[in-house]
Amino acid sequence: MQPTRWFRFTLLALVCAGAIYACRLPAVANAAGPEATYQYSTINALLQGYYDGALTLGELARHGSVGLGTTNGLDGELIMLDGAFYRARTDGTVDRLPDSTRTPFAIVSPFKADRQIELPAGLDINDLYRLIDASIDNRNLYQTVRIDGRFASITVRSVPAQTPPYRPLVEVVKQQQVVFSYKDVKGTLIGFRAPDFLAGINVPGYHFHFISDDRRQGGHLLGITTGEGSIGIDQIAAFEVQLPESAGFAALSLSGGRKEELDAAEKQHR
Ligand code: ZN
Repeated sequence: MQPTRWFRFTLLALVCAGAIYACRLPAVANAAGPEATYQYSTINALLQGYYDGALTLGELARHGSVGLGTTNGLDGELIMLDGAFYRARTDGTVDRLPDSTRTPFAIVSPFKADRQIELPAGLDINDLYRLIDASIDNRNLYQTVRIDGRFASITVRSVPAQTPPYRPLVEVVKQQQVVFSYKDVKGTLIGFRAPDFLAGINVPGYHFHFISDDRRQGGHLLGITTGEGSIGIDQIAAFEVQLPESAGFAALSLSGGRKEELDAAEKQHR
């Protein structure tokens, strides 16, 4: 091959290779997709009594394998574990939910722990949060947390199904939440640590739901004394929020952090 023809051939080959690479690159990135949390509606909407959503659990399952939330009518505490949905109700039972069940508020994510730490015995809920905090290097990202273990004691709550006209979540929690305390129980906690700047959209800080290994006990976590176990943490840099398109959602005033209301609804028990 003459030098000029060789040069032209090489140039053509390089351009082709470059074009193929450029075309393939986004396709490959999209196929893998960024790891993201997926949320339906906002915490402020739930606080105001937005209890009927349009999203099915089947749709939710396309975006993750672990998560938490509630079901339409504020009927119990929802927990997603290994792709399956469970609901802890105020009568103390846990049932497995079909994909057709709808939710007014839920958050899920894929889960692949990028760090695993040992859970020591004897921690209360604040010790536990401090322990997880200490192993997080970026508090401005989402953390999905899965804790498997035996718990010396665990206190969870659930809320009963509501009928319209719906009352704000704080009122329901104050008047109707049912608290359960279990001793020496094996199970899993699924939760998220949302960055503070997401106030109004999600619960800033930690939010956990529990389900026992035998799938008979569960609820929204209020208190704990740890036994031994393991904490898996998955740091997630992307999040997607699907907002309801209903007239009910359109009528809500959704700005502000509502910290006191949130603390009363999500973090305290009588
Ligand atoms: Zn909860």
